Amino acid sequence: MLIVDAHLDLAMNAIEWNRDLSQDIDAIRAREHGQTDRPDRGKGTVSFAEMRRGHVGLCVGTQIARYAAREHPYPGWHSQEQAWAMTQAQLAWYRAMEERGELLQIRDAHQLDAHLAGVRDGASSAPIGYVLSLEGADSLVTLSHLERAYAYGLRAVGPGHYGPGVYAQGTNAEGGLGVRGRELVREMERLGMILDATHLCDESFREALDHFHGHVWASHSNCRAIVDHNRQFTDDQIRELIDRGAVIGAAFDAWMIVPGWVRGQSTPENAGVTLDRLLDHVDRICQLAGNARHCGIGSDLDGGFGREQCPSDIATIADLSKLPECLAARGYSQEDIELIAHGNFIRFLRQALRPL
Ligand SMILES: [Zn+2]
Repeated sequence: MLIVDAHLDLAMNAIEWNRDLSQDIDAIRAREHGQTDRPDRGKGTVSFAEMRRGHVGLCVGTQIARYAAREHPYPGWHSQEQAWAMTQAQLAWYRAMEERGELLQIRDAHQLDAHLAGVRDGASSAPIGYVLSLEGADSLVTLSHLERAYAYGLRAVGPGHYGPGVYAQGTNAEGGLGVRGRELVREMERLGMILDATHLCDESFREALDHFHGHVWASHSNCRAIVDHNRQFTDDQIRELIDRGAVIGAAFDAWMIVPGWVRGQSTPENAGVTLDRLLDHVDRICQLAGNARHCGIGSDLDGGFGREQCPSDIATIADLSKLPECLAARGYSQEDIELIAHGNFIRFLRQALRPL
């Protein structure tokens, strides 16, 4: 069954982690043997071949680069211009992968349908379709950079990421959008871009949804009612997203799946993190909606973690293909399983990528 994954940091892995995703996963892991600069070295789960094996025929691929002012709690670039330059390196890598035939950029509904017609179950050797998204908007030096980015195919923006941002306050930060953030979402609306509500802190979430009237999704977000952390959405926020027609992608980072995860101590095995626990979040959103039309997958499986911090039954991203079976075991109908695996995000993208 075709799987749509609404959140992968493919270019960050290529450019900052120095991973060649066109190699086999074993080769990528072997190349990192002995490296200790990042916790997921040698434990990556994503390559193009594994995506194809998992029938991931369409994904959302990010550009991502944070601006970190002097006292910023997270690492980042020291100027917005440097952050912009990093996103342009990432864009150059996406283009190179298009030239290799690994990826195909999807910019509008027509291209989406043409791609899907050739993919069917997603397992072919054809290019993997990707919609370009920006995770954290700090790299947009001015609003004219957003217009430039739209011209090269950027179709979704999450204004915030971790910590305080130029346009919005993200996870573990506080505060609203401010003047610049409100201008940003207005310009996104004018261009017909998708607002990604993921990572917005509660105040920024409130302000973003009040000032933006276009298509909203949450590409990789889980439920605060299950794991109590500001990175997750409350039931009220989820209800509001549902009312706005959003699709919410389930995120595979272990600490967001089960409560009590302790970095460096917990393991997927000893904390009981499995696909079935992840589906508790999916199930809660379906119960809040009263249907299965607002859930999807936004695995984030290459988002700075690997096998050490994802469900124990995920050896590589190919194991996303286990999800239909897991959903069936919980009593989901075939129709609902197809919606969650791909149908909801495809319906959303068909509407959002219509020409204005
Ligand atoms: Zn993220």
